[in-house]
Amino acid sequence: MTARSLYPHRHLLGMEGLDAVAATSLLDAAESFFDVSRRAVRKVPTLRGRTVINLFYEASTRTRTSFELAGKRLSADVINISASTSSAVKGETLLDTVKNLEAMQPDVLVIRHPASGAPHFVAARTRAAVINAGDGTHEHPTQALLDAFTIRRAKGKIAGLTVAICGDVLHSRVARSNVHLLRTLGAKVRFAGPLTLMPPDAAALGAEVFSRIEPALEGADVVMMLRVQNERMSGTFLPSTREYSRTFGLNAARLALARPDAIVMHPGPMNRGVEIDPAIADGARSVILDQVEAGVAVRMAVLWRLAAEAHEAPPA
Ligand code: ASP
Repeated sequence: MTARSLYPHRHLLGMEGLDAVAATSLLDAAESFFDVSRRAVRKVPTLRGRTVINLFYEASTRTRTSFELAGKRLSADVINISASTSSAVKGETLLDTVKNLEAMQPDVLVIRHPASGAPHFVAARTRAAVINAGDGTHEHPTQALLDAFTIRRAKGKIAGLTVAICGDVLHSRVARSNVHLLRTLGAKVRFAGPLTLMPPDAAALGAEVFSRIEPALEGADVVMMLRVQNERMSGTFLPSTREYSRTFGLNAARLALARPDAIVMHPGPMNRGVEIDPAIADGARSVILDQVEAGVAVRMAVLWRLAAEAHEAPPA
């Protein structure tokens, strides 16, 4: 089977609807790119001559940096644009920006945008391959892939595991992408959080929903904590940060409810002392920095697969 037939898509917009074969093919490709970042010379010629544009309309540390490093380690030319220093501040529309960038012949556009659906809108209107690097509260597919990659490395499998995703599920594109991918790969997913921070369609997404964290942690193999996304809250969702941390924060006593070999994850950035006790974040069971390392390998795999596709497409 060719890489193309395993992942027969032009873009990576979300985990919803992506089948296990396609997702696993990306995880397996990431496995083969993982060691590149640990070598003395962290570069392979795979995407020489290709161009990747990172177009970020929202703040980012890990995602933007790792897409940039991933592209550079594949020898692609990588350009970074952040909305705050682009013509977006002069009122240029997203579509005009994309059409202008497209005129410079990029192979891949990596887009982060506060509006859910923005990458899908762009994908329908450009020749470039589009990667969703986080759209509003909708999806963050490469985060789910790097999470699955990290779980698979730590546990040796994903099927049959119980994954508790805890905290501000409502605003979390990470939780949405993860529930789709983890269920596709055979894991059981639990969502736990205050009901004010639980999406109304949580059960329809296939997760078991808990309004307290303790029962969700019981017997879990993986505990994934989510950041409280204050920037997306317009009204009052929580009585206070202190009360939230007291009732929903991950501490040693709560972690003891999970399996003794459970791993702890967080997509970052963390609110230390709010959703997670710093001693747990930095503790022996934390794989939070492994997630960050996995991010480069996973994004290399995705860029490789999509840029190869774009390259193979016949010229218009
Ligand atoms: N970095 C992740 C995201 O962009 C998670 C977060 O911001 O809390 O969705």
